[in-house]
Amino acid sequence: MQTILTGIRTNEEPTIGNFLGSYLPMIRLSHEHGANSNINMFIPDLHSFTTPIDHSKFYDQTIKGVKYYIAAGLDTDNPNIHIYRQSRVPAHCELAWILDCFTPFGEASRMTQFKEKSEEHKDSVTVGLFNYPVLMAADILLYDAKYVPLGEDQFQHLELARNIAIRMNNKFKEDLFTLPASEAEQVKFMHLEKALRIRSLTEPTKKMSKSSKNEKSKISLSDDPKAAAKKIMSATTDSEGVIRFDMINQPGISNLMLIEALFTNRELQDVISDYAGETRYGELKSKVADTVSHFLADFQEKVAGITDEQVEEVLAKGEAYANEVSNQKLQQVQKVLGLRK
Ligand code: ATP
Ligand code: MG
Repeated sequence: MQTILTGIRTNEEPTIGNFLGSYLPMIRLSHEHGANSNINMFIPDLHSFTTPIDHSKFYDQTIKGVKYYIAAGLDTDNPNIHIYRQSRVPAHCELAWILDCFTPFGEASRMTQFKEKSEEHKDSVTVGLFNYPVLMAADILLYDAKYVPLGEDQFQHLELARNIAIRMNNKFKEDLFTLPASEAEQVKFMHLEKALRIRSLTEPTKKMSKSSKNEKSKISLSDDPKAAAKKIMSATTDSEGVIRFDMINQPGISNLMLIEALFTNRELQDVISDYAGETRYGELKSKVADTVSHFLADFQEKVAGITDEQVEEVLAKGEAYANEVSNQKLQQVQKVLGLRK
């Protein structure tokens, strides 16, 4: 059975960028393939402190992360759907160390996200931040996941995981790891034209990031719906004076059209046509503000209806599964390395 896998760090409140770029594609794929594929949606909690976080809130945030997966539409009654915390599955770290030793330093040094994040967190650039793409490769390869729905920013890391898999398979055993699909195949599998990148509301040339210190740049899934609507109304646009979809010259207004299309499940082209030639940005902003605030109100109501007990139950089931599958793979790797007979 093929495996589709993804995870969202619980370092901060997830944003609508995470929702549209990662939750939504994964939930849709779970509806489409959940009867005959493993759907692994895990919480990469060990990735969470590669950049500084508030550890006093961390545990609760992780539990809330699971509630978000369920509220977004993962069917926890489906036995093929597995929700687990990375930290409760020790094979992730064990395989990560092994993969580290087969990852050229030069290749890991090319990761642009490390360069960007170490710029952002100048005083706290850790070995963990540098190394996290290798842990991510372990997260994927342990489960032989072919499809990994991700936002655009994570595809370089997926490529690293593919390179590691190719190298290990060539060196040790042809079918040691399933090779994750290429970016083009992944995007096609998600029924997208290209990988998604929701932009910051204040600096639309950049992506929206949950770890951004600027609250106005992002809409978090726990934002008050009215406050979120205000952020959309004051989103940075441009002075062209006409609405066009042009991510290079008019990224702010284009980003809003993309958000509208994704939340309303409409073709982007249809939304673009609705506003073609329109000169009043306010109208489009009001529409998007309305869409997003309704989404948040509905989503937050669903989250509030999920109990901690439900989460514990789902995790116990998911973690038993994840330990069983990942230990088998780890043992295969240990055998080819000569750690085990
Ligand atoms: P951080 O700033 O902490 O790195 P993040 O918003 O980048 O937070 P991640 O936990 O790194 O979130 O990524 C989780 C998933 O969300 C990944 O699949 C990532 O590609 C996707 N994602 C993150 N930001 C966006 C975005 N702006 N648009 C689309 N997808 C996104
Ligand atoms: Mg990120």
